[in-house]
Amino acid sequence: MSAVPVQLHRRSAGRSLDELREIAEIAGPELELAAAEDIVGWAVETFGTRFCLTASMTDAVLAHLASRVTPGLPVVFLDTGYHFPETIGTRDAVAATLPVDVCSVAPALTVAEQDAAYGSDLYARDPDLCCAMRKVAPLEQALTHVDAWATGLRREEARTRVIAPVVGWDAAKGKVRVSPLARWTRADVDAYVAEHDVLVNPLVADGYPSIGCRTCTRRVSPGEDPRAGRWAGTSKTECGIHA
Ligand code: SF4
Repeated sequence: MSAVPVQLHRRSAGRSLDELREIAEIAGPELELAAAEDIVGWAVETFGTRFCLTASMTDAVLAHLASRVTPGLPVVFLDTGYHFPETIGTRDAVAATLPVDVCSVAPALTVAEQDAAYGSDLYARDPDLCCAMRKVAPLEQALTHVDAWATGLRREEARTRVIAPVVGWDAAKGKVRVSPLARWTRADVDAYVAEHDVLVNPLVADGYPSIGCRTCTRRVSPGEDPRAGRWAGTSKTECGIHA
């Protein structure tokens, strides 16, 4: 496992923004009904070493699936400093057992430094600012030298995700965003996990179907919206990395 995304920083210059946007706009409709493995294969073929994955470590489905297509792909994990121990354990298990290069990316400030600069428990007072510093900015830094990145985003996870294309243009980041699992249902995920014996964060079975920082994630009740435990009691529904 890499402490920093070394591979990402060794990459050469890529295509222009106009070229990347055109690629995304053509590929999105063309790959809408493609299998997840084929979408990953297209991304590897199109972007080569200027492509990476990201993972929240709720499960290892995308990392497992992508590693079957092309071993050795970089998997960026945003180590906010606020994760559950089970999430860190899942990250370490993925790094130890799958043929992927897990790259843990840390924010500019440690939790202690952030507390000193902004006051303690910023997540409770201004979660948007906390996420901007501990998730959004580190991800943008990690993606500096890639043209495309893949996430495990699924349309059925949230109302904000129902129109997510399998390949789309992320204008804010100037990158092609690839979502090979966009059309997957919960049942599809469960079937893949069972068929391939994929690593799953133990918190999922403990009532946490969607897992973020421990400070901003609570257990959900049976039948409750799977993402109801994220920033519960606030109007916040996304950390900003999928904006
Ligand atoms: S999820 Fe909570 S603790 Fe984690 S970065 Fe966002 S606001 Fe901060």
